[in-house]
Amino acid sequence: MINEKRQWQLLEKIGFSRVGGSKEEKKAALILKETIEKTNNEALIEEFEVDWQKIKAASLKTAKREYQVTAYYQCENTDEEGLTAPFYYFSTDSAVGIKKCEGKIVLINGYLRMKTYEKLLEGKAVGFITFSGELKDAKEDTDLESRELRSPQREKGNLPGVHMTVHDAMELVLENPQEVTLNVQQDTFKINSQNVVAQIKGENNNEIVVFTAHYDSVQFSSGVYDNGAGSVILMELYHYFLANKPKRTIRFVWCGSEERGLLGSIHHVKNNKDLIENIILNINVDVAGPVLGSDVAVVTGPESLVHYIDYLAKEKGFEIKVKQDIYSSDNMPFAYKGIPTVSFARFGGSGQAYIHDRYDQLFFMDSKNLKRTAEFVRIFAERMINSYVFPVPREMPENMVEKVTEYLNDKMTEE
Ligand SMILES: [Zn+2]
Repeated sequence: MINEKRQWQLLEKIGFSRVGGSKEEKKAALILKETIEKTNNEALIEEFEVDWQKIKAASLKTAKREYQVTAYYQCENTDEEGLTAPFYYFSTDSAVGIKKCEGKIVLINGYLRMKTYEKLLEGKAVGFITFSGELKDAKEDTDLESRELRSPQREKGNLPGVHMTVHDAMELVLENPQEVTLNVQQDTFKINSQNVVAQIKGENNNEIVVFTAHYDSVQFSSGVYDNGAGSVILMELYHYFLANKPKRTIRFVWCGSEERGLLGSIHHVKNNKDLIENIILNINVDVAGPVLGSDVAVVTGPESLVHYIDYLAKEKGFEIKVKQDIYSSDNMPFAYKGIPTVSFARFGGSGQAYIHDRYDQLFFMDSKNLKRTAEFVRIFAERMINSYVFPVPREMPENMVEKVTEYLNDKMTEE
């Protein structure tokens, strides 16, 4: 069964910020590796290259003042004296907004999605500004994080960009300066991030079930909820199946750099091509453990699996909502390869749990809720792994193929 105390202790142990590619991420990987090695099994560190940078300058000035900003990682450098251009608040990517972008440094609302980025390139903006945080929080309680211009975005066109707090964004719009001067200087290079991989051999090697959970987090976030929780659930499942030999082979992949665009799971799928046809199911866990929250299972696969989990929950008296959809996590690259996947999570609602900031901490979580989710995943997984005939057809319904392809389009390109 799930060892509640051991699970929680491991969560405490890896509860520090673990940005994909950082020394801290590597440290967490080694903790997971050592935990496996203590059971006299092998753990593989599967390395892959990720972008990294050294920021030398980042500033945003108007005639009146200077705003506090961070440089967009990997974005284009400006000239050393900076880029001066008219300012425009690109509040929505409408036709009017796009037309007004030309030659300007544009502020966009919140997160820089691919679609918005394409629009500002289309409109011929020359630089961009994004922001994060919440106005209800004091500015001093708002961490100014660093954002990354991801490679699929850079491939469309690389512009210089900076990030600021929501408080400053509001001030900037109120100031509405004629011109702003943007300065970004950075050196870019590659470093390694890594997955941690362990395997438990079953009697049947031709059918493999893969568990995934990302163990990286973002800047300023201890990432215990997102996704230390899934990582330690995986470790408990590992202990369980080590003690209870499975019929089918099980592979555990603790994925690195998920928060940077599923880089670890994409690498694993691309780097283990020979395994792909033998993988019959991927079970992913991403976020769990909040006291106030609700469990969900998202099936990216056949409808029959939705019913299977739903019936099982009814049999066991476990409250969970099961649906067929895509889920933005490490199961997606497997689904892209036509492998049925299910992603388990226990979500805290708004104001009950926090991700991607300094409040992702243990205070809203407890070991019992973490165990409950883990236990249900274990029961489900055991039935799958030990079934006489594997009950899930290896098929991806048309509606899911469409959604997965659209979601991963820019991420899985080079084959
Ligand atoms: Zn996550």
